Amino acid sequence: MFDAVLIRKSDSGQEAGVSKVETAQLPQGDVLVDVAWSTLNYKDALAITGASPVVRSFPMVPGIDFAGVVAENSHSDFKPGDRVVLNGWGVGERHWGGLAVRARVRGDWLVPLPEGVSLRNAMAIGTAGYTAMLCVMALERNGVLPDSGEVVVTGAAGGVGSIATMLLASRGNSVAAVTGRMTEADYLTGLGATSIIDRAEFTQVGRPLAKERWAGAIDVAGGVVLANVLASMRYRGVVAACGLAGGMELPTTVAPFILRAVTLVGIDSVLCPKPQRLAAWQRLAQELDMAKLDGMTTEVHLSDIVSMAPKFLDGQVRGRILVPINLQVG
Ligand code: NDP
Repeated sequence: MFDAVLIRKSDSGQEAGVSKVETAQLPQGDVLVDVAWSTLNYKDALAITGASPVVRSFPMVPGIDFAGVVAENSHSDFKPGDRVVLNGWGVGERHWGGLAVRARVRGDWLVPLPEGVSLRNAMAIGTAGYTAMLCVMALERNGVLPDSGEVVVTGAAGGVGSIATMLLASRGNSVAAVTGRMTEADYLTGLGATSIIDRAEFTQVGRPLAKERWAGAIDVAGGVVLANVLASMRYRGVVAACGLAGGMELPTTVAPFILRAVTLVGIDSVLCPKPQRLAAWQRLAQELDMAKLDGMTTEVHLSDIVSMAPKFLDGQVRGRILVPINLQVG
């Protein structure tokens, strides 16, 4: 028997808590992983609170990502003892996830951990960091280079935003960090942001086209914030959109696209093909300052995850929340 966060259906909708489960209860898969570290992501907070219908079947172990060591394996790419990381693929939504001492998954979903990245750092990066890298790669594919001009990052003090800010700064971009928490200005400057902008500037519906400011953008907010970012892009600017922290809707017009040739690139980490995942993880291993990464993490025990989830959705969390699961592993 081992500990797992379990979300069950209840009369009031759903309830979540730490329960004992057995290996035999784990879903089908060809690799059994001893989980060392997991994390709390925005989507996990939605799943645990039930604020959004993230969970597709009950009971469910949440946790869209984990890092651990292969315990048992019948997949040709892995052997017992290999260090692996998992992001997405519906894990924690349709398939039991990483907020548990063990997980059984399909080997095709696993990425071998690159040399030089510890199991802890893998989850300090987590789905947030891997998504931030997918955003950076999308900007690059569309021609946003270090000398192209300033890049804006929204939700900059959150998980994706913090790592996006670090990655962009380390490749030489000037980074404008948009935050609803101006008290985090020093933290953001420490990550490499060159200017800090109050989110309040972006929350009122604006004109279809505003002053041209940015060559690139990484947006985690969606909603009116994204509409205002689009309106402020420079000619041929590129926006990588990955989140909905500010809302699902997008109250914009075609003006940025047809008058300024702005490109809006959608980013999905869940079903992203494996070659791009491998490339993203290799680059994270090479480009992220792991010491700086350490400074943006907070550890929360598995038993406190359920009470932490609502705070996460309130935007009270800075950087990355790490969940130590079994530190004997690895
Ligand atoms: P976090 O909660 O860590 O960060 C979100 C940040 O957004 C907050 O810290 C806050 O930053 C900002 N924010 C909060 N509320 C609002 C609001 N009403 N309007 C605008 N900004 C707001 O979450 P993550 O960084 O883990 O995830 C960010 C988003 O990206 C989420 O929507 C998540 O679902 C999505 N995501 C998508 C992925 C994909 O595959 N497409 C993968 C991973 C995440 P600040 O205080 O600095 O303003």
